[in-house]
Amino acid sequence: MKIIIHGGFFSESSTCDQTKIDKQQSMERIVKEAYQYLETHTALETVVFANSLLENDPLFNAGIGSQIQSDGEIRMSASIMDGVSKKMSGVINIEKVKNPILVAEKLLTVDDRILSGNGATQYAREQGFPEFSTEIPQRRAEYEEKKNANRQGTVGCVALDKEGKIAVATSTGGKGFELVGRVSDSATVAGNYCNEFCGVSCTGVGEDIVSGAVAAKIVTRVTDGQPIQEAFAKTFKELLPFDGFCGAIAIDSFGNIFHQDSHPKMVFASYDGINLDIFN
Ligand code: ASP
Repeated sequence: MKIIIHGGFFSESSTCDQTKIDKQQSMERIVKEAYQYLETHTALETVVFANSLLENDPLFNAGIGSQIQSDGEIRMSASIMDGVSKKMSGVINIEKVKNPILVAEKLLTVDDRILSGNGATQYAREQGFPEFSTEIPQRRAEYEEKKNANRQGTVGCVALDKEGKIAVATSTGGKGFELVGRVSDSATVAGNYCNEFCGVSCTGVGEDIVSGAVAAKIVTRVTDGQPIQEAFAKTFKELLPFDGFCGAIAIDSFGNIFHQDSHPKMVFASYDGINLDIFN
């Protein structure tokens, strides 16, 4: 059993040591709690659980603590992919729900599995998700100051369960100040992709991640026999011509855990029951 989570990029490291310590503590707590959950649940159930814990933590830009868009509203995106069934489901620009990842989970069992905008929000209400504001005062203050505090923490998780099954989930509040209607990578195959060989979750600038088709490419390369570190190296090399800003986490079917970022510093933590690896 293996698990890796990310909490987006950390840009304040030099100016705010306390935020870094807080994020390290949250990441350690969540990766260990999720690992414990993995002991009695599937990879698919666990990636949803881990993402919901990360969404509930206001330190991260997903669920509670999400960024505010250019019109002053919060719209969030989240997706899940099951490496066994190869099904992906997600919500794009959903509004006023506490845990977008739980709505994405509901969609995994229906035909129309990726919903956007009002349709996604309406579906959530019909499924009993109450109206919930994920705004926190700090994000509103940043918005009022027109301070773009992006790279603040899209979240994601890849898990490998005891049956060798892989699943991935990713959730975001977007990049902040985006135009209404902008689509994040987090509910696309560029930002969140998985099969029986490998699962990948990304963070960074959504437009770059989509241009680089990052998660789908890494998974395809591993599927075709490339070792995971080579699949990462080639895919990240292909981001260089346009200075693509991306971080990604992954686990392959051999149990290799891997992560890489194009720019420092991605917030991540991995755990296998013994070894904890955490960003510094
Ligand atoms: N990838 C997210 C987006 O562009 C933002 C992030 O990861 O920080 O919507």
